[in-house]
Amino acid sequence: MKKILSKFDTMFKNPTCELHYKTPFQLLVAVILSAQCTDKRVNLVTDELFKTHNKPEDFVLIPLDELEEKIHSCGFYRNKAKAIKSTSLDIVERFDGKVPSNFDDLTSLAGVGRKTANVIIAEAFKGDALAVDTHVLRVSNRLGLVDTKDPNKCEDKLKKIFPKKSWSKLHYQMVLFGRYHCKAIKPQCKECLFADICKWTKTNNKKK
Ligand code: SF4
Repeated sequence: MKKILSKFDTMFKNPTCELHYKTPFQLLVAVILSAQCTDKRVNLVTDELFKTHNKPEDFVLIPLDELEEKIHSCGFYRNKAKAIKSTSLDIVERFDGKVPSNFDDLTSLAGVGRKTANVIIAEAFKGDALAVDTHVLRVSNRLGLVDTKDPNKCEDKLKKIFPKKSWSKLHYQMVLFGRYHCKAIKPQCKECLFADICKWTKTNNKKK
């Protein structure tokens, strides 16, 4: 698997999170907004939103309909507004206004699932975590690293394959690779560094 890590390092030496944030809490809000939405759109919304609302207390106090209006363009705005308000209340009431840094506490927050918790641990707290989003799941399957549609099983398998210290970086490398190269539709296989090992391209070429 060293070969795979080295190819990702060649493509993305220092991958970073593309969401704009200054605090763990702002990152948490941005990650909640990013579900089914582009990072670019989320950044447009949060660049404005965080000028006036950037602490959990602010989101506890903001009326639900006002928050819905502010985040409307991110899609699924009703569910996202509810999730942001509930998680803010949890953080204020149970964690003294601070985003917790461990997996169990993070996933105990209303509106925070496994993927979001892993992103927060890896990005905001620089811990070892491997979040599996739609890009990581697709790339892992195409490369033949996993054979599952279940993100949790994918995460477990990837964690067994790759050393712990590589997890956080690998997550971003796979996200960027999936977003810009190994796209869901029309992946750029001709210029791909992984063409020699890619299970997906072998199967698809045989069908042609
Ligand atoms: S060869 Fe194509 S499908 Fe395979 S990893 Fe590369 S871009 Fe993705």
